[in-house]
Amino acid sequence: MTLSFTRTANTSPTSEERRAEILANPGFGSHMTDHMVTATWRQGEGWIDAALEPYGDITMSPAASVLHYAQEIFEGLKAYRHEDGSIWSFRPDKNAERLNASARRMVLPELPVEDFLTSLRLIVEADQEWVPAFGDGEKSLYLRPFMYGSAAFIGLRPSTEVKYSVIASPAASIFTGGPKPITLWVAEKYARAGAGGTGAAKCGGNYASALAGQIEGAEHGCDQSVFLDSSTHTYVDELGGMNVFFVMKDGTLVTPELTGTILPGITRLSVLELAPEFGLTPVERRVPIAEWKDGVASGDILEVFACGTAAIITPIGELRWDGGTAPSTAGEGGGEVTRGLRERLLSMQQGRTDNTYGWMHQLV
Ligand SMILES: *Cc1c(COP(=O)(O)O)cnc(C)c1O
Repeated sequence: MTLSFTRTANTSPTSEERRAEILANPGFGSHMTDHMVTATWRQGEGWIDAALEPYGDITMSPAASVLHYAQEIFEGLKAYRHEDGSIWSFRPDKNAERLNASARRMVLPELPVEDFLTSLRLIVEADQEWVPAFGDGEKSLYLRPFMYGSAAFIGLRPSTEVKYSVIASPAASIFTGGPKPITLWVAEKYARAGAGGTGAAKCGGNYASALAGQIEGAEHGCDQSVFLDSSTHTYVDELGGMNVFFVMKDGTLVTPELTGTILPGITRLSVLELAPEFGLTPVERRVPIAEWKDGVASGDILEVFACGTAAIITPIGELRWDGGTAPSTAGEGGGEVTRGLRERLLSMQQGRTDNTYGWMHQLV
């Protein structure tokens, strides 16, 4: 049975003038739209009280399980306006599947794919004026579905009440004047996830555990940090919120295989599927950090890039670690494959090319 959502319009939305001001310079994640989606799940009842309502604060018991035991998961995807005014998102069915995979790992209830897609459609429909215009750089409306345990009980057990919500926030390209290569710090002291842990689930706690490694990188003048496997500290896992790829001289496009500590990115999956278009063979395997350090110097590695919904594809420049550096192969704005894949994905998302793979899903 699919959920039916009640709808309550925000009667005091952001003024048109203020919204135009925000859309001219949205930044990332600081401005929310006028509506939100909410739904509740209760043990024995399932999903109830699904609603589109005015954006606003939430109240919960100080004993709510999420505040103590971090039973929380989220998703992130973007809505793009196409030239004819319609609004689309990129492979949202994959986000729905991943939300449910995360839910299973964190013992939260699954949300039917149909209801997830309806929740996206409802908020984008209500806040469609917040979706940046076609052709306005790389701007989009970022959608943030999330779910958390809200039952008031200080004791360790899966929450008997859970909230699902979607909020939306206009986003600019995180680059001005094209993507600039980012400098990476190898976080050798910290891991973001461990074997048997929650690295493959999109849960808030993974981000909290990555922060210290991220800060350590910033202290060494780096934009981001790359995490290694927690058991041997010798294999590349991923960045705090992006997967990593290597363009090899031998014609392979390599990314670390999913061992359970890596988040299965939808951009990652799409890049693997697009590799043949670029004459490259996609390979998922373990990548020793030593291979990266040596490979960029020897020329075996031609390009390195990171990928994820927020930044799409970002060229990776210099690699730094405690005691050394490896040179950038990214030039000014990334190598040929990095730039080509970026434009391939972006043109699809913005509707400037055919929906050949059927990856684009119309919301409005
Ligand atoms: C969300 C996320 C990614 C990127 O996933 P996409 O589906 O491509 O946006 C990569 N790594 C981590 C840790 C993430 O949380």
